[in-house]
Formats: sequence, structure tokens, C-alpha cells
Amino acid sequence: MLTISNLHARVAGKDILKGLSLDVKPGEVHAIMGPNGAGKSTLGNILSGREGYEVGEGKVTFEGRDLLALEPEERAAAGVFLAFQYPVEIPGVNNTYFLRSALNAQRKARGESELDSMQFLKLVREKLAVLHLKDELLHRGVNEGFSGGEKKRNEIFQLAVLEPKLAILDETDSGLDIDALKAVADGVNALRSPDRAFIVITHYQRLLDYIKPDVVHVLADGRIVESGGPELALELEAHGYAWIKDRLAPGA
Ligand code: ADP
Ligand code: MG
Ligand code: MG
Repeated sequence: MLTISNLHARVAGKDILKGLSLDVKPGEVHAIMGPNGAGKSTLGNILSGREGYEVGEGKVTFEGRDLLALEPEERAAAGVFLAFQYPVEIPGVNNTYFLRSALNAQRKARGESELDSMQFLKLVREKLAVLHLKDELLHRGVNEGFSGGEKKRNEIFQLAVLEPKLAILDETDSGLDIDALKAVADGVNALRSPDRAFIVITHYQRLLDYIKPDVVHVLADGRIVESGGPELALELEAHGYAWIKDRLAPGA
């Protein structure tokens, strides 16, 4: 589904990704862990099409298409969930209205019919039930005054409604309390399916207590330096990232 080969990228004149390769198949959940500053968010941002990154060598293919050549909206229509496209806060814009517009823009780009408000409401009700969410989020402004946990629940709700093939979630290193982590995990678990893949970027192992990934990768110094099963996350929790750094040191 997604193949990243030898990806290099610079930010503000500094080399951040230095030959990153990753292969994600439908149905898989990949966790990407790694020390602070390793380039995890950079990777997520580049896949999302965020500006400000200078991609050098390397290639990213999504279902056979050159992902990096696509505009962010085209990536979304192709089935890549781009958390940053669904902005943090848009006061005064109703959450349901916003999400229906986003979904219909994607459907239109794929040549599918747009959903009218009745059809959309039906879809929303189904998704709320699957995720065990209350409908109070629907009537508020997009993320307006949402708590950290509510923002996370809303992100998962957006994901459920947009039904992407590949969802990339960057669970930023700080500020997520246990409720927010559980909301993310419950959502990911409820939305797992044989034809949907997830890349969950996280600094901490604790998220993976709730999401059982198929593959865990360690990103350090701009590359995937280690991949393994869920036990790798536990190993990192026990030993920290120091052993990875030792491994990266010349002559180690
Ligand atoms: P991680 O998410 O793994 O903690 P990031 O991808 O956020 O790491 O950052 C990787 C490196 O790139 C860090 O050294 C960070 O300071 C640098 N970096 C990221 N974004 C920018 C930017 N916009 N300008 C300058 N440096 C940046
Ligand atoms: Mg960081
Ligand atoms: Mg980060």
C-alpha cells in the first residue's frame, strides 16, 4: 500500500530524514517510535504534504502512485488521512458541516456522488455508534473549546467518517492524558480492518498498551534503525533509547 524508499528530507537547511525506508501493507498497524528530534513528526508532515520540507532523494509510493507529487487534497481523495488537514480549531464553523464538506470534497474528487444531509446524518449516526461517542461533538464549532481528550475523540471521529485507506496519526510527545490516549487507541482498534492501515507515531510506549501494533519501528537519526513486533516497544520502555544511540555511534 505504502512504500517509502530511501527518503531524504531537509528542514531549514538541516538534514532530518537520512534514507528512511518503510513498507506498509493493507490491514497493518505500524508504530513508529524514537527519541525526541529523530524526525518522526517530520515524516508525518511530509506524508501529509505540509509545506516547509525539502525532499531530496527517495520515493514514496501509495497504491502505485507517487504520493509526493500529489497535492494534500489529492492525497486525501486517494485515501490518506491527513490529520493536519482537519484543523485544530475553526470557531463558528459547525463540526458536522465541516466534516460533510470535507467528505464530499473527497467523494467528488473520486467521481462519487456527494452525500446530502440526510445521508450524511445516517453515516454519522453509524460512526458514533461504532466509536461509542455521544453526539454532542457534532453541534459545536470545529474543535472550539475542546479539551485535549475531546480533540482526540474528534480526530478519531473525522477518521471514521472519512474512511481512509491509510491513517497517519502523530501522537505528539506531550500533553496527551490517559483518556486521550485511550480515545485514540479505542478508535484505532474499532476502525482496524483488512483493507485499512495505520501509522501511529508516538514517543511513548504507553499508547501501545492499548493498540497492539503489527510492527514497531524505531526511528533514530532520520532512519528506521530497528523493526520488530510489539515486544520491541516493551524493550524500549525498559532500556530507553540509549542502546539505539550506541548502535548509531561510528564503530559501535
Ligand atoms: P520528532 O517528532 O521525532 O521529535 P521532529 O521531526 O519534530 O522530531 O524534528 C526533527 C528535527 O528537525 C529536530 O531537530 C527539529 O528541531 C528539527 N525541525 C523540525 N521542524 C523544524 C523547522 N520548521 N525548522 C527548523 N528545524 C526543525
Ligand atoms: Mg518531538
Ligand atoms: Mg514529534
